[in-house]
Amino acid sequence: MNLMRRLLRRPAPPIPEALWRDALEAMPFLDRLNADEGERLRVLCAEFLARHRVGGAAGFEMTDAIATRIAAQACLPVLNLTLALYDDLAGVIVYPSAFLVRHSEIDEAGVVHEWDAEMAGEALDAGGAIALSWEDAHADTICDDGGNLVLHEFVHKIDMRDGNANGCPPFLAAFHRGLDAREWKDAFSAAYADFCGRVDALEARLPRRFDPDRDDHADLYAELAGALPLDPYAAEHPAEFFAVASEAFFCWPEPLATAYPRVYTLLAAYFRQETLSSAQAS
Ligand SMILES: [Zn+2]
Repeated sequence: MNLMRRLLRRPAPPIPEALWRDALEAMPFLDRLNADEGERLRVLCAEFLARHRVGGAAGFEMTDAIATRIAAQACLPVLNLTLALYDDLAGVIVYPSAFLVRHSEIDEAGVVHEWDAEMAGEALDAGGAIALSWEDAHADTICDDGGNLVLHEFVHKIDMRDGNANGCPPFLAAFHRGLDAREWKDAFSAAYADFCGRVDALEARLPRRFDPDRDDHADLYAELAGALPLDPYAAEHPAEFFAVASEAFFCWPEPLATAYPRVYTLLAAYFRQETLSSAQAS
């Protein structure tokens, strides 16, 4: 966009008061924001919605209330950064429930394998969109178990801003002069290795013929997983560890900060926010 167009661009119309109040009420994890932060988030949301299309697919009817909720969660990680981190976002596509995505892989013999996987959310890199299942995103908006699908996918999008998602987001000259890439890698690699060890130990305690559809097996898994500082999905890949740790950072930071204090500190420095209530009080 040239300078003249940028100067002439009008500010996005504000999110109406009632709509904003309803969005905040639906997302209690936003309660920690003070009045100034809340107002800045509201302005950022309006700007986000002016720049990016948030639409429904497969019969899902988008409403202003749902678009506002998604925008508020999308904007939370960039509240003290810049919306430019989403400049290559093609849009947000919301499905009523989990959707099928075709995956393919070439094996060592050069044979292409293709299969459909059911997804709750997906972020595509390099100018791609974010797709969300509203059934899952809606259930996560209260963040009561430290998880939040919308935050997860948008944090992937930030991670992808400088290439493939690898667990190290781009450091911006305007905000991240104090961050060191080597320190980031060291802290996250150590935490990831530790966490994978914890998940291996969890799996070793499961019955040999583990069946997630059996109630007693599912209960045991939930009990063991509940004792972990993060959702076990974080052990899938360093990029997933970064996304899941970021969800925890915004929604339920205490277990993360206790288990991996360096990761908490680096996330606080990256997002330029403190989410621990004790840190806010000091
Ligand atoms: Zn992910």
